[in-house]
Amino acid sequence: MFDALLGFVRAHYRSEGVIALHEPLFAGQERTYVNQAIDSTFVSSVGVFVDRFEQDMAAYTGSPRAVAMVNGTAALHVALRLAGVGQGDLVITQPLTFVATCNAIAYCGAEPVFVDVDRHTLGLSPAALADWLDEHALLDHDGVCRSKDGLRPIRACLPMHTFGHPADLDGLLAVCQRWHLLLVEDAAESLGSLYKGRHTGTLGTLGTLSFNGNKIITTGGGGMVLAGAELGQRAKHLSTTAKTAHPYEYVHDELGYNYRLPNLNAALGCAQLEMLEPMIAAKRELALRYAQVLQGSLQFVHEPEGCRSNYWLNAVVCEDRAQRDALLSESHLQGVMTRPIWTLMSELPMYAACRRGPLTQAAYLEDRVVNLPSSVRAEDLA
Ligand SMILES: *Cc1c(COP(=O)(O)O)cnc(C)c1O
Repeated sequence: MFDALLGFVRAHYRSEGVIALHEPLFAGQERTYVNQAIDSTFVSSVGVFVDRFEQDMAAYTGSPRAVAMVNGTAALHVALRLAGVGQGDLVITQPLTFVATCNAIAYCGAEPVFVDVDRHTLGLSPAALADWLDEHALLDHDGVCRSKDGLRPIRACLPMHTFGHPADLDGLLAVCQRWHLLLVEDAAESLGSLYKGRHTGTLGTLGTLSFNGNKIITTGGGGMVLAGAELGQRAKHLSTTAKTAHPYEYVHDELGYNYRLPNLNAALGCAQLEMLEPMIAAKRELALRYAQVLQGSLQFVHEPEGCRSNYWLNAVVCEDRAQRDALLSESHLQGVMTRPIWTLMSELPMYAACRRGPLTQAAYLEDRVVNLPSSVRAEDLA
C-alpha cells in the first residue's frame, strides 16, 4: 500500500539502517567556530558569537532586533511577558501545536484559549478567531479585549507556523487589530519561511524561533525573540537577569530570567545560519519529490499560496485514522521513522478545562497527519 513512498525514502537516503525523521547537518564552519569559542575561553554567558548570531539573524530575517535565548520555550515566555501577558489573562492559540506554545502561556500565569486551524495552512484560522471573539469577547471602556465570561483580559493571539507553513497572517492581523490584540508568532518551526515575501516571526509585534536539535538549524539548544528595537532591548534585559548597566555593582531592577544563550551554542548557530538558505533549497527539492511520488495516493501538504515554506517537516494527510495507523506501523516496521501530528493541546490534562471554540479541522488533522523523514544530507547541498 505504501511501497512507492517507503521505497522512495529508502532509495533517497541510500541507507539500509533506520531512517530518522529529522537529523541535524553540520556541513559548514561549525567545528571552526566552536573551536574558536573554546580557544577564546568565552564559552558561557558573554562572548562575540552571541552578538554576531543576533546581528546575523536580524539581518537575515529583516527584524530590527533578534535576541538569543537558551531555548524556544524561554523565547516564548519572554515574548509573552513583553506582550503584557500576566496572571489571570487569556491568550488565544491553536490546539494543533507542540506543547511549548501552551506551556509558555501557563508560565505567565495565563490560560490558553483554543481556536481552530485552517485545513490548508495547518495554522490558526482567522475566520475561527473572528467567530470566537464575536461570540465570547467584548471591548471594555478602555479598549481592552475581555472575555464576556469573567471579564478576563485577552492580551494576545499566538499562532504557530506548523511544520514551516506560514499561517494566514494578513487575516489574523486584521482580526487582531479589530480586537486590540497583540499578535505574537511562534515561528519555532518556520525559520526562513516567507509570507508574501516577509519572514515569519517578523509580521507580528513579537516572534520567536527555536534552534533545538530537531529544527531546521540548531545550536544544540537555543531560541530567539524577534522584535522592534524597543521590545528587543526589553527582551535582552529580561533574559539577562534584568541587571542594570554598571561596571561592577549588581543591581537588578525587576524580576528577570537567566535565559541568555551561551557563547558556545551561539558559535554553532553562526555556522548553521550560514547554511540555512542551501538547507531550505534542499528541503524544497525533497518536498517536490515527495509530492511527485505521492501523486494519486496520499495527500501531500503543500505550502500555502503566496508563501515560501521552509518545508521543515514534510507531511501527508491520510484518508482516515485507520490509514494513518497503517502508514505509521508499516513504516516503523520497515525502519522508516514517521510520526503522527501532536495530540491536541485541548486534550492534555493541564489544558483540558481551558476555553475553546469548535475544533473540527484540528480534530480532522489530528486523526490524519503523518510526518515523513525530512533530513537534508550533505550531498543535497548545492
Ligand atoms: C520546537 C518548538 C518550540 C520551542 O522548543 P524548544 O525545544 O524550547 O526550543 C516551540 N514551539 C513549537 C511549535 C516548536 O515546534
